[in-house]
Amino acid sequence: MESTNFHILGGGPAGLTTGYYAKKHGFSNFSIFEAGEHAGGNCRTLKINGVDCGYSVLSKDGFRFDTGAHRFHDKDPQVTEEVKTLLGDDLLRVSAPSEIFFKNKFYRFPLLLSDLVQKLETKTLLKIAWEKLYNSPKKPAENFATFARKQYGQTLAERFLLNYSEKLWGQPPHKLSTAIAGNRLKGLDLWSFLRSTLLGTPQNPTHLDGSFFYPKYGIGMISDKLCECIGPDHIKLKHRVNRLLHKNGRIERIIVNKESDTPLASAVQSEIEIPVSTVINTLPLTLSMKMLDPPPPPELCEVANTIKYRHLLLCVFCLNRDAFSSNASIYFPSHEFPFTRLYEPKNRSPHMAPKGQTVIVLELPCYNDDGVWNMPEALLQTEVWEALSRVKPIREEEIIHYQSYKLPFAYPVLEVGFEESVARLVAYFETFENLYLTGRSSLFRYLHLHDLFKAGREVIERIAEA
Ligand SMILES: Cc1cc2nc3c(=O)[nH]c(=O)nc-3n(C[C@H](O)[C@H](O)[C@H](O)COP(=O)(O)OP(=O)(O)OC[C@H]3O[C@@H](n4cnc5c(N)ncnc54)[C@H](O)[C@@H]3O)c2cc1C
Repeated sequence: MESTNFHILGGGPAGLTTGYYAKKHGFSNFSIFEAGEHAGGNCRTLKINGVDCGYSVLSKDGFRFDTGAHRFHDKDPQVTEEVKTLLGDDLLRVSAPSEIFFKNKFYRFPLLLSDLVQKLETKTLLKIAWEKLYNSPKKPAENFATFARKQYGQTLAERFLLNYSEKLWGQPPHKLSTAIAGNRLKGLDLWSFLRSTLLGTPQNPTHLDGSFFYPKYGIGMISDKLCECIGPDHIKLKHRVNRLLHKNGRIERIIVNKESDTPLASAVQSEIEIPVSTVINTLPLTLSMKMLDPPPPPELCEVANTIKYRHLLLCVFCLNRDAFSSNASIYFPSHEFPFTRLYEPKNRSPHMAPKGQTVIVLELPCYNDDGVWNMPEALLQTEVWEALSRVKPIREEEIIHYQSYKLPFAYPVLEVGFEESVARLVAYFETFENLYLTGRSSLFRYLHLHDLFKAGREVIERIAEA
């Protein structure tokens, strides 16, 4: 096809899906600039290999874990077909329920009436039903705290939602926007489970936490497949974009820090200046604001300072036991635990850990100035392990390997009023006639993998039509 030259900033799923559709459209003159050594961003699968880390107990197959508990959501039929074509038989349909751990009990998630009846006192059950009947929302809630209480009632909200949200986003629930609810609370919808239990109407399986698609060797297979289709010549790893030079409403050049490929000179970096005609930016909105040269108007920089991203620290335990649980994920709403979620990759695909062994991953959301983000490895391991022992004890000799992993820019923090701030910043970027934004952190939207496939396709269609 025509030799339109475009530059994609960031090699996470947003950059990769855009590159994939560019290739599919027949574009040949494009490059993806990725700061890291690997593409895939926050959607990768990491392998702990026995040989690499010197643990003789580890089998040759090693352990695999994803950068956060991922699944592929079957929400957009066209995208699902695309991913099925990409992965073929390696895309598994998984059915693994999740649970919530609260006050020493496990509750099925999505909620099950029979489970609640077994585990809650009748008094509490009646209270939940009463609150639901008498708290039907009449006017839109102003923040997540009022939304959760109105939508689910005081009891359910306080048990399962408010503390959890505060841990996840690091803000009190009254400061969080109702937008954080998104689709993630469908499993707490009392009406849908009452309907399905009492009337026998099926719940929509695409909305259930327990049924989803998952690649045989981890979510990263999707990113890896995209890279394979795009081709290595188009993906520039260890190329960190530092500045976006603009003039007359156009991005004219980008300044990139290129890390040398030769191991001996790994510390050597060179700065290169690249003229551009079309730029597709997937980098965090706040970072992109700082990269603009000349800088944006000061009032917009102030707006950018008000929006935040939440990072995620992963604590990974490889265990010499067959299983820790049978769940895809376990959620921990209580502040008693430093983590919000535990996931066991083997319950998504048996190929994620060697036979007779398993791996569990604990997610600790934090900001980069929180103590936990910079905590010494040994202390972090002890703290998490001790908290875990209040759920299900793990003997020291069962731990084959431990490591932590940092995931920056995991979640945009959707505070009350964020829409207006983000709209102003995005509108400013849209004034550049040759710049397109896509991606979770770039658009500051709670986008998932299937959304990014769609967004990538749409960006390329717009460029092709221009
Ligand atoms: C814990 C967790 C669980 C999730 N679970 C699911 C799920 O179950 N299902 C689902 O569909 N989605 C899930 N998601 C969402 C999905 O992973 C994200 O939507 C996706 O990773 C966002 O892709 P992105 O390309 O926009 O950003 P990122 O993945 O953040 O990628 C951005 C890339 O840009 C690179 N970069 C940063 N700065 C620079 C620079 N200056 N120059 C060059 N490159 C740079 C980074 O290294 C990175 O590779 C989850 C996300 C998280 C964090």
